[in-house]
Amino acid sequence: MTEPRTLAIRVLPRPGESLDSWLEALARRNWVPLQSLTEALGIGPRNNPARLVNRTPPEDLRLIETQLRLSEGALDNSITEPGMFLKRLPYFRYCPRCLQEDQGRWLTRWWLPWTFACTRHQTLMHDICPGCRSASRSRFLGAVHLHSPGQCMLTTTPRRTCKQDLAAAPLLPLGTHHPLLAAQRILDTIPIRDTAGATEIFSVVDEHLAALLDAMTEKDLEEIENVSPGNWEKALTAITAHNTTFHGWRVKARTEKLITYEFMDQEYNKAGKTIAEIAERCQLPKVLVARQAKSVGIKTRTGGKFPIEVDYDWLRSEYCERFQGIAHIAQTLKCDQKTVRAFLRKAGVDLRPACLSGQSDATMNLGGSVSRDIKKAVENTQYGWLRLRRFQVHIKFPTLSAAAHHLHLMPSALAAQFNRLEDDIGGALFVRSVRHAPQRPTERGAALLADLERSEVQELIQRALGSTLDPLPPAQTLKESRRTVDGERSALTELPAQHVHIPPSMLPVVRYVLSRRAHEAYASKIHNDTGIPFTTIYKQLRLLQRAGWVTSRPETPAERSARRQGGRGRTYYTPTQAACASHVIAHIANETPGKMTSTRDDSTDMNPGFSYETNDQVR
Ligand SMILES: [Zn+2]
Ligand SMILES: [Zn+2]
Repeated sequence: MTEPRTLAIRVLPRPGESLDSWLEALARRNWVPLQSLTEALGIGPRNNPARLVNRTPPEDLRLIETQLRLSEGALDNSITEPGMFLKRLPYFRYCPRCLQEDQGRWLTRWWLPWTFACTRHQTLMHDICPGCRSASRSRFLGAVHLHSPGQCMLTTTPRRTCKQDLAAAPLLPLGTHHPLLAAQRILDTIPIRDTAGATEIFSVVDEHLAALLDAMTEKDLEEIENVSPGNWEKALTAITAHNTTFHGWRVKARTEKLITYEFMDQEYNKAGKTIAEIAERCQLPKVLVARQAKSVGIKTRTGGKFPIEVDYDWLRSEYCERFQGIAHIAQTLKCDQKTVRAFLRKAGVDLRPACLSGQSDATMNLGGSVSRDIKKAVENTQYGWLRLRRFQVHIKFPTLSAAAHHLHLMPSALAAQFNRLEDDIGGALFVRSVRHAPQRPTERGAALLADLERSEVQELIQRALGSTLDPLPPAQTLKESRRTVDGERSALTELPAQHVHIPPSMLPVVRYVLSRRAHEAYASKIHNDTGIPFTTIYKQLRLLQRAGWVTSRPETPAERSARRQGGRGRTYYTPTQAACASHVIAHIANETPGKMTSTRDDSTDMNPGFSYETNDQVR
């Protein structure tokens, strides 16, 4: 298998050089394709740089060392610690000036997600090739020996290679005193390999990253953003992304720190909370919490939950007489819809078809006093009047979801009812809302609405629906629902308001800030606890402040000196009173349907998702 002649010319690995870089240089010097070289070395055909550096087992290194008569361990630092990138492979970053000075040889450290700056040249590193704007070094060409060192080997179009000289990429200089450089200097001292394994490296990196995020001010971030837009956010995402081994380690470390015997004894045994509730409040995976609880000696209950007690008479009257939807009842009981259905069956109630909510059989024959469309909607159908009334209420709102919220229905259920109504009538009744444009009736819909307004028809509706008649929304409700949706539909509602809208992307930060009413939040803490990219946090906090959700204050000199750390000080954020209003909190809790679990004592726990305080237990 070995072909000693092809490896006659030896190239020695440089200090800190990565395996892929050295093998590339070796292939080039021997004028052979990379795959022939790796096969000759007995480690099989290998041509993915990321895999070579991050997934090569140490045995393979020994094999290469013996064959090329290198001293044992000479290649140890050419790969990253095994087990460090079991999930997602890292991206590669580079410093063009270093490439220039070292004849296109690459360092192992450049594969580490926490290498984002070159301290030798005081620059931010590149993560993409300036020519093809793709992740540099994500692939090798088989024939590396035909390319000069430091060239981008990505194929841009079939049969064409980018060939951009990466050493010629522009420098991205940072100010000499930028905290990123100071942090990088420390991170660079962490050994590439550690006998204690990847977790030891993770814990040191985690500590230094936390200190860095603490020290960086908005001005520092702006400086990075000006030098290379998006670069820092990408770096942070690469470090903290959910599919990395590092993230898995962080979550596990947090679980071990939080889920102690004393804590579980208090929350689980004495307060009677479920594992799921505790997991949600601590923002940890349920499985990990359960496992950790067992390992600290907590006996877990089977079945998990305390049973919900239901008054069957109340349930029957809600569903059968008041025609409340299952979703609404589930919300009231704080359980999921499946449970409500099970209770209803137990109570001997026949469930209504999924898309309908209300009215028993009502086959009516109407005289000539109503229009043809109304007849089509109600004759020989169930719930026709209900659908008409809901259409009348719904069209006053700018969006279907706002109407559904007002009617205590799921938007999908309401949508299904209107689809049915349109089917029965045989034409479109309203134009669905889109971003920036509220819904509006079609010509036919407008005619139908005009008919529905007539007093004879109103009387018929009144008679058919009785006490289940949905009242028309008050003007104030409509005004507020328009404030959210009229302009930008995805906008954050300005507080105070009765109906709030939060763009889903902002929910994690909003939840976090509101969950800590008694303690001020600051950006690096939020990042540490949630893993949300730092720049995102800053952007969203600014938005929240502008919309009246939070107020901020700078750290006082006394506070800063008390924590004995560098940097230009934190900014603390506190939710406003309007943001702490119960309906806002309830709205946020509602954003995760199906996640709500029953609590034992609802009266004292207004806000099941957020009453728990983790401040003292999380670093
Ligand atoms: Zn450099
Ligand atoms: Zn390229």
